[in-house]
Amino acid sequence: MTKKKNDFVKEITPMEEDFPRWYTDVILKNELVDYSPVKGFMVIRPYGYALWEKIQEYADARFKETGHKNMYFPLLIPESLLNKEKEHVEGFAPEVAWVTHGGSEKLGERLCVRPTSETIICQMYSKWLNSYRELPYLYNQWCSVVRWEKSTRPFLRTSEFLWQEGHTLHETAEEAQEETLQMLNIYKELAEELLAMPVVIGQKSESEKFAGAASTYTMEALMHDGQALQAGTSHNLGQHFTKAFEIKFQGRDGKEHNPYHTSWGISTRLIGGLIMVHGDNRGLVLPPRIAPVQVVIIPIAQKKPGVLEKADELYEKLKDKGIRVEVDDNPKESPGWKFNQYEMKGYPIRVEMGPRDIENNQAIIVRRDTLEKEVISLENFDSSTAEKLEEMQADMLKKALKHREDNTHIMEDYEEYKNKPEIRKGFAKAMWCGCAECEAKLKEDTGATIRCIPFEQEELSDKCHFCGKEAKHMVYIARAY
Ligand code: AMP
Ligand code: ZN
Repeated sequence: MTKKKNDFVKEITPMEEDFPRWYTDVILKNELVDYSPVKGFMVIRPYGYALWEKIQEYADARFKETGHKNMYFPLLIPESLLNKEKEHVEGFAPEVAWVTHGGSEKLGERLCVRPTSETIICQMYSKWLNSYRELPYLYNQWCSVVRWEKSTRPFLRTSEFLWQEGHTLHETAEEAQEETLQMLNIYKELAEELLAMPVVIGQKSESEKFAGAASTYTMEALMHDGQALQAGTSHNLGQHFTKAFEIKFQGRDGKEHNPYHTSWGISTRLIGGLIMVHGDNRGLVLPPRIAPVQVVIIPIAQKKPGVLEKADELYEKLKDKGIRVEVDDNPKESPGWKFNQYEMKGYPIRVEMGPRDIENNQAIIVRRDTLEKEVISLENFDSSTAEKLEEMQADMLKKALKHREDNTHIMEDYEEYKNKPEIRKGFAKAMWCGCAECEAKLKEDTGATIRCIPFEQEELSDKCHFCGKEAKHMVYIARAY
């Protein structure tokens, strides 16, 4: 049975009606993920994994370009190692999974499933490092980690997630700080260039920083529903771990020193962000650079002579141009059904081409983000399509940026912000004295948190919006995923 044109649209809950259900519909119907038999753990299906591979490809190239190499460490960490850095263990203990038995035998020491790998990596770094000549250590690993999260949602917060964790050592504090910010900037470029997802970058407050860090930097994105998402973090760990793990090197002065340390990570959460920034009521909208398939060619009246041949010719042309392209010539489904299907899947461009188009040496191109139709000559079709893809990539970033700007407000009055939930959608810029009490009060009153102290500061007022005392920073506030 072929479905009628709008059936697929009806199957996705409109986002205005129920945003979380819209999200669930989009990820399940597109077969990006599925729930697994273990609560909080998700299965990433091929279409979802293809998105992760594109993120990996981009990030890995950037890491290597900046001198990093990949390595791999064990999944399990002895309890004694986890306990070595006090703030770290306090922060992570509540969400750690433990291995207590090997077969039927009880282990002498519990092993935790890595929630992050600073401890085991530092243990090995302390064994390897001797002299300043070996520094910096610039290493990364691609793996999964487990954090026993209380409430989970596919991609955004899962108990196991795929990520990369960079772990570097440096001779000086300045170099470590430089590395921390360099990696944050690479994340920002990844978000903006690949995912067309604009981010605000800045520093986390004391209470939101990584357990064991000297300072944490973050990129924060705004989702379609006005909630923020912490999309990646980079930590300057100072000498917290290198002292606890006794990582030492002989310095230029002949004396022993502890190196300075950084770590940084992005995860499969980015895919959730991608969906929530660009998706619409028809389903996914993928920016061309990350789309596993960028163009689908749908022949119309394909039984007519010459149509399939022309479609294949076009396919070859686009492929040679380096465009990721497919032809859907499945005779069992109607073109209308296919249009809906690929709209739901978020393919950036669909090409419609029937006998009359071929006669006129043209095809119809439909852009997924705007749904605009355009007749394009088959002359130079490959270049026109490549141009369209680039145009679409840029337009999607612009559109997302506009959405963020339209939903970024300057806090006038805290009481008003507190009492009117409708103005709590989106980011609010506010002034903050820097104290933990004001931060806690904000969270308790409104559910919103300080997302970051942005690098780009503005002086909105000289008083803290929450207590009236002298303000230290302008901050971005939002409810967050
Ligand atoms: P962290 O090591 O805590 O700074 O985490 C690094 C990055 O991983 C964060 O910035 C998030 O983007 C992501 N992340 C943290 N927890 C989760 C989770 N439960 N599920 C998916 N991604 C996560
Ligand atoms: Zn205050």
